[in-house]
Amino acid sequence: MTELLCTLLGTGTSYGVPMIGCDCAVCRSQDPRDRRLRPAAWLHSPDPEQSISILIDFGCDLREQAIRANIRRLDAVFLTHTHADHLNGIDDLRGFTRIAKAPLPFFASSKDIQFVTSHFEYCFPQPSQQAIPHIMLPQLEPRPVKTSPVHIAGLTIVPVPLLHGRMGATGWRIGNFAYLTDCAGIPEESFPLLQGVELLVIDGLRWCPHPTHCGFDAATALARRIGATSTWLTHINHDIQHAVDDTKLQPGIHLAYDGLTIPFQLTDCNNYPTEPV
Ligand SMILES: [Zn+2]
Ligand SMILES: [Zn+2]
Ligand SMILES: [Zn+2]
Repeated sequence: MTELLCTLLGTGTSYGVPMIGCDCAVCRSQDPRDRRLRPAAWLHSPDPEQSISILIDFGCDLREQAIRANIRRLDAVFLTHTHADHLNGIDDLRGFTRIAKAPLPFFASSKDIQFVTSHFEYCFPQPSQQAIPHIMLPQLEPRPVKTSPVHIAGLTIVPVPLLHGRMGATGWRIGNFAYLTDCAGIPEESFPLLQGVELLVIDGLRWCPHPTHCGFDAATALARRIGATSTWLTHINHDIQHAVDDTKLQPGIHLAYDGLTIPFQLTDCNNYPTEPV
C-alpha cells in the first residue's frame, strides 16, 4: 500500500472555537468549519478495518473526536508536546486499550515521556499492577524518541524538532507528509528532515504574529521554504472566519477544518538510519 489518509480531528487553538463566553462573529458562526476542536491528527489506511491507525495527540476533545471519526483501534499514539490541549485526553485512550486488551505504544521525545510518566503515573502500570483490567486504566508503553525515525505498523515516522516557546515541540513526518503543529519556527537542523515533503499541515494561529505560534505569514514562509505544494493551516483561533479568511491566503495555502481528510503517499524519500526504540 502506498497511500494513507490524514484526518484532522481538531484544528482549533487551545481554547477551542467557539470559546466559552465569547459572542464574536466566529464563535457564533453557523459554518461548521468555524467550529474547531483541540488539535489532533489521525493517520490511517483507507480500508474499513483501519489496518493502519496512528493518533497524533490526545487533547481534551479526544473522546468526541474518536467517536466522530469512528476510530476503533490504534497501533500507536504520538505526542507533539505536553501542553494540555494535546495531552489531557490521555484517560480516554483506555477506550482503545479496553478493546485491544494490550498496552498501546506511546512515542514522544524523552523529555515529554518523562513528563507524562511522572504526571500520569497510573497510565504506565508496573508489572505488579498488570492484573488491573484494561477496562480501568489506559495502559501505555513508553517509547522515547531521540533523533532517528521510528518504525511502527510497517511505517517509518521521522521526529522533527520544532520551536515552541521554552518547551519546544516535535513534528512528525511520514512519506511526503508532515504534521507540524505548535511552532513559531523550525530550527535550521530540522529542514533536511523535511526534504521531499509535498503535503504540509502547519501551525497557523491567526494573521497577527505570536511569540510561540506561527501567524499566517510565518507559516506561509515556512511552507514555501519546505517546498510543499499543498499546505493546510491548523491550531486556528477565533479571529479567523473560514469563509472570509481562506480566500485571502496565498495559492496552495488553505485553512484546515475539523474532519478534513487528506491523502498522502508513503514515498521512499527518507532513508534515515534506524535507532532501536
Ligand atoms: Zn496547542
Ligand atoms: Zn470568539
Ligand atoms: Zn503548545
